[in-house]
Amino acid sequence: MEIPVTRPSMPEMEEYIEEIKPIWESRWLTNMGEKHEELTKQLASYLKVPNLSLMVNGHMSLEMVLQAFHLTGEVITTPFTFASTTHAIVRNGLSPVFCDIRETDFTMDPEKIEGLITEKTSAIVPVHVYGNLCDVERIEEIGKKHGLKVIYDAAHAFGVEKDGKGAGVFGDASVFSFHATKVFHTIEGGAVAFQDEKIGESLYHLKNFGIMGEGIVEDVGANAKMNEFCAAMGICNLRHIDREIEKRGRAAAHYRKRLEQAAGITLKVQQEGVKENYAYFPILIEEEAFGKSRDRLYGELREQGIYSRKYFYPLTSDFDCYRGQFLSSETPVAKEIAEKVLVLPLWAGMPLELIDRICDIILSK
Ligand SMILES: *Cc1c(COP(=O)(O)O)cnc(C)c1O
Repeated sequence: MEIPVTRPSMPEMEEYIEEIKPIWESRWLTNMGEKHEELTKQLASYLKVPNLSLMVNGHMSLEMVLQAFHLTGEVITTPFTFASTTHAIVRNGLSPVFCDIRETDFTMDPEKIEGLITEKTSAIVPVHVYGNLCDVERIEEIGKKHGLKVIYDAAHAFGVEKDGKGAGVFGDASVFSFHATKVFHTIEGGAVAFQDEKIGESLYHLKNFGIMGEGIVEDVGANAKMNEFCAAMGICNLRHIDREIEKRGRAAAHYRKRLEQAAGITLKVQQEGVKENYAYFPILIEEEAFGKSRDRLYGELREQGIYSRKYFYPLTSDFDCYRGQFLSSETPVAKEIAEKVLVLPLWAGMPLELIDRICDIILSK
């Protein structure tokens, strides 16, 4: 039996059918319908954010929010992320400038940001990697001091809180992903949480082709609207999310118990005052102490039908499509972590025996 890297949470089929029945009656399938409005309210409340705009996916949420802020020139960001973050910057005609990450939690190193600021810099786009929160206070200070927008990629941070505050309240805006493989999903989907209501108006138009009214198109927008079927899936999944996160927590705790003493394996930090979402279970492999490389372990798991993930590897600055444009040697910590990291299979309700099987393989010499 093959073991996937994750498995989406699903409501009972009957629950979903009940939720989509009104759509048959209204024939309102997309374009900010009732389910869309209901999910917007529920999510803003769950995530403890003042404003939220739903989108077709996390990636378009990033593209739309970068456009809404009318950014120009250079954007300071991290190469230790999913393709989406860097692509969204480049697809907005902006130049990514890569900042290194911290060894401890893999988020942008605030001490290295100011050295990268030039007169062309317009924003900072950090990522809350694996649900580890960035140093939001320090980054806010830097943003304010230099007049830069701060937009977080919070795709990994659904439900994460710091001292009771939702992850999406930091900076000017935060982007969430509701892809099937994320902690909370709407099949495909995403959202922008933001502070300034004017940004909400821009997002509303931008996600609908920039149309302001009949015959009035003021922005070069896109189509990034969430449809009613996806919103309905979100409404169902949100009812069960706390229990699903608890179940993820139990799986993560079992991994932790099995692997925390192992030589050559470093586990994810548990940040103080942070309520976790157990989105991922990454481990770092120190080849010498562990006795084999990350790639060898990845291969051995794969031979046994177990799909782990080199996430994130390679760095986005090393992608073929950006060849010759960036030097990953300028972000040495990110480069090293990308060579060592392996994300183990994890989902809500993952049987503990499966975790034992995976750990037995990892710990066998
Ligand atoms: C998943 C993800 C995205 C993109 O979200 P989609 O909903 O898949 O478009 C962006 N950034 C990060 C860090 C992600 O993990």
